[in-house]
Amino acid sequence: MTDATSSGGHGHIHRESGPPQPDDKVHSYYQILGIALQELLIEKGIVSADEVRQMIERRDAITPARGAKIVARAWTDGDFKARLLADGNAGAAELDCPMTYTELVAVENTPKAHNVIVCTLCSCYPRELLGLPPSWYKSREYRARVVRDPRAVLKEFGTEIGDHVEIRVHDSTADIRYLVIPRRPAGTEGMTESELEDLVTRDSMIGVAEAKTPGK
Ligand code: FE
Repeated sequence: MTDATSSGGHGHIHRESGPPQPDDKVHSYYQILGIALQELLIEKGIVSADEVRQMIERRDAITPARGAKIVARAWTDGDFKARLLADGNAGAAELDCPMTYTELVAVENTPKAHNVIVCTLCSCYPRELLGLPPSWYKSREYRARVVRDPRAVLKEFGTEIGDHVEIRVHDSTADIRYLVIPRRPAGTEGMTESELEDLVTRDSMIGVAEAKTPGK
């Protein structure tokens, strides 16, 4: 390579100086604080950069399939569902999906009540069970509006909840995460647990959608 700013021989360019490029990111105060803390922990030998990388890799590998496994089990095993509703952490741990540092509360949709989750303050989300939150979940608009007018917000997601059904909005905190158990779709009586897992979408476990059979 002939570019003056390139370094190493591994085929991509490391820019060392010059004006900001379009993809240069401006870090917020808390991002800078996070980077500084991480650098300090590595410098002091408390964690290694490789351990941090492994942790990120494990987190990024989590998909809503974990939550779906829990919901499908709750649909097919009433005793498990009772244990899950009584103690979310214990229920999730039974299926090898432990929550790391937070309390898990499972909330069940019924013909009379529909549950939806939000974090009004920031973006708390059951990441251990659903992976990373969608961008709309973190948006100011969703956080503010779903609390004030959940029925209208759900309608924008294509989810119409009848007037006779109560909508319960659960505000997550640093300590408590929620998982919605959607209603099991009608006509799925003959399906196996793993077939049922495929019907459980991320959005149905947030509560902005319902679980549906294919094509409905
Ligand atoms: Fe939050």
